[in-house]
This record gives sequence, C-alpha cells and structure tokens, in this order.
Amino acid sequence: MSICTRFAPSPTGYLHIGSARTALFSWLFARKMAGKFILRIEDTDLERSTQASKQIILDAMEWLGLNYDVGPIYQTDRYLQYHAVIEQLLQTNHAYRCYCSKERLALLREEQQKNKQKPRYDGCCRNLSAYPTDKPHVIRFRNPLEGEVVIADAVKGTVVFANAELDDLVIAREDGSPTYNLTVVVDDADMNITHVIRGDDHLNNTPRQMNIFFALGLTPPQYAHIPMILGSDGKRLSKRHGAVSVLQYQDMGVLPEALLNYLARLGWSYGDQEIFSIDELIRLFTIEGIHKSPATFDEQKLLWVNQQYLKQTSPQTIKPQLAAQFEKLGIDTSSGPDLDAVFLLMRERVHTLEELARTSRYFYHAVDYDVASAEKFLTPESVAILNTAKAQFANIPWQLENIHQALEAICVAHGVKMGKVGPPIRVATTGSTQSPTLDQTLYLIGREAVLARLEMALAFIARR
Ligand code: GLU
Repeated sequence: MSICTRFAPSPTGYLHIGSARTALFSWLFARKMAGKFILRIEDTDLERSTQASKQIILDAMEWLGLNYDVGPIYQTDRYLQYHAVIEQLLQTNHAYRCYCSKERLALLREEQQKNKQKPRYDGCCRNLSAYPTDKPHVIRFRNPLEGEVVIADAVKGTVVFANAELDDLVIAREDGSPTYNLTVVVDDADMNITHVIRGDDHLNNTPRQMNIFFALGLTPPQYAHIPMILGSDGKRLSKRHGAVSVLQYQDMGVLPEALLNYLARLGWSYGDQEIFSIDELIRLFTIEGIHKSPATFDEQKLLWVNQQYLKQTSPQTIKPQLAAQFEKLGIDTSSGPDLDAVFLLMRERVHTLEELARTSRYFYHAVDYDVASAEKFLTPESVAILNTAKAQFANIPWQLENIHQALEAICVAHGVKMGKVGPPIRVATTGSTQSPTLDQTLYLIGREAVLARLEMALAFIARR
C-alpha cells in the first residue's frame, strides 16, 4: 500500500504554528514512508476564506520547505464531485431532505437545553412519505441509530462513539453547498488518503466522517489525532500568548529549519534529543512517538533552538535572510563590513536574525549613546584615553592583531588595565557597553568610522 497523507488547512487567517506542526507530522510521515503528501485548501467557507490567507498558506509551506507532491487542491474546484456524492447518498437512502425551519430548530435546541439534553436534531424529517425537491431544504446524512463507531486512533488508542450520540448532520446547506464533514470524506476518499493526521479538535467529527465512508461502501483511512498545543496558562495556544503565526516567526528571523525542529519536538520525542536535522526527523519520526498529552508552547525554547541553528549555519546560506532583516530596519549595509563577518561575530549573542540586525547597527553607522553608558564612561576622565586611542588607531595597519596591540599600548601609556580603557572606547564607537570583543568590533567597524566616532565622543564630552 502506498502511503498518502494530506494537510488540509482552512484559509481563514494566518497559519497557526499548531497547523504547521500538523502539516509537519503529515509531511514527515509521507516522506519517511516514501509516500505522497497532498496540500488541500479547504476554502468552502466563502465568507471566511480569503485570497490573502490562501497565499499565506502557500508562502508558509514554501518557507518551511514542506513540499507537496499534489496540490494545492482547492475544495471550491470540486463541487461537482461533492454533488455527485450527495446525490449518491440520497439515491441509496443514506441521506434525506430536511425541511425543518430555522425557527423550529431553534425552538428544539432551546427545549433540549432547558431539559439539560445535548442539542441535536430530532430526526423529524428522517421518515417522511414524500420528499419534494422544490421546497427549501437542507440535506442530512442518515446516521445509523444503533451500534457504535470504533476509531482505532494511532495516537489516542481506541475511541468509541455510540451512534445514538450522533445526530443526522447536514451535508448540504439550503443553497446546495456541501459542508465540511462531507467534503473531507469525499476528498480523503478520492485522494486515496491512507493516514489522516490532524488536531484532536476534529476527533468529534471522525465518527461522523467514518459513517459517511461506510455508507459509501468505503474503508476509512487510519486516523491519528494529535493533542493541542497549550499556552503557558494551560489554555489553547492563541494570539493572547504572543506570536502564533508561522510568518511572524519568519519576520523575527527564526530559521525555518529551527522552527520545524522545535515544532517536531513539541508533542513528539526521540529520547531527549533536542536538535534534529530534517533528514534525521524523516528517519526517526513515527506516529507512535507522538505524545498523548497536550504540549506546552515555550517561546524561550524555540529561541534557544534557533540560536543553535544560527551557530551552525554557514554565513552564505543566511546572507539573503540577514540582508532582508537589515533592510527592514532601514540599516544600509552597502558600505561597512561584510554581512558574513558581522554574522560570525554576533551570532553567539543573539537568538534571532532580527535581533542580530537590530544589535549590529553600529557596524554600519554611528548610533545614539545609551544614556547610562555615556553618563558613566564618556566623561572628562576618558578624554586622555580617547585621544591616545585616536593617535594609536590612526597609524597602525588595520588588522586584528595590530588593533589588539594598540589597545594594550593605550593601557600601558595610561598605566591602567583594559577594564579602564575598554568601556569609553566601546561606548564611543558602539554607543553602549554591549558588544563582542573590542578588537574584533573595532576591526569590523573600520578605521575611518572608529576615528570619526572617537572624535564625536570627544566633542560630546566637551559639550557636557
Ligand atoms: N480544514 C480543517 C481545519 O483547518 C482540517 C480538516 C482535516 O484535517 O480533516 O481545521
């Protein structure tokens, strides 16, 4: 049997990282089993689906590198297939027309709520003597009244639903448009999906979908329902908890491999290994390895994983993404040090590319002094040191080794330690006391800029 999985997002907004994890698990399983992975966009909710959010899904999949073998398939292109199946269900008496008015259904619901019953359709139109087609109606699936549906879920184990608990769900609305549970079954059947890996918020839909499969004389796929991702407060992860959209992490300069690595570990594990290459994930992933209990999202850990990736990645691969981050911050990097060099020097100190660009401004232009740092170190007592620095830096070959020696020469000239010499020079040239080692920092800033900034700092002190 050749394995086929799918990712079936509804394009109703941003792509949630929980959805990305669902996509990842489906993709990993297909890749591991040398099967197929399908992208199916469930856009039948015309009021909520937008072109922009379809594009967001495509962009996010591309950025993450979750390539699909088939798709994108849009459900709105498949109405003929859905109508054919609805017709088939009507013909075989597995579906019926229902004429109940909205008012009647509202009253029924009210009554049931009053009696503390679960709101459900009472089957009023299940056995009519005639089913006129010209009266307004919806179409309902005739769910079996007895017996049970047993889901052999690959994550949850055996889950049993009594048919008596499931009412006759609407499969076509009054305007004829098919509903979610119907379209999913038609598609999963037509596309020969062997494994449906999705969030466990769909678990309640599964017995309904399986009954439609049975009514069509088909075998349902294997289901694997993954537990939700929770925020730190134990509630379902949402915007309230911070960034939850995939493209927000792209904007922050999280690397796609790092996000995938983090998401893979969120609800799946392989011993206590934290860092996995994509190839390793494909090799090691199993549905059995998916945890049964919900995972808690931890942004700090995601940022830590990203830092591990930044430390390993070659500057060449990162350059376009890094350049985009500088550009977004309006930092012109066309003159000044090579991005590669800045990346190599700064990457240990940051968690994202955005942070790297933001904290690397001073390599490209003078920045405002951090007030407390200037207060403490750009003082009349520093003037002599800054002047010596100017003189020293003016004439040496601009090499790391020479800059290092020059800094030591300044210490010797003033009979002080590096702890006295470093801070004023650092604040003068970078704006604050936070930078990588001074010799390397100065080297990258470049002689011209270093001399100009020492001069500016002296003028600043003179004005104080
Ligand atoms: N379109 C559904 C959603 O976005 C997923 C349906 C499914 O995976 O079966 O929640």
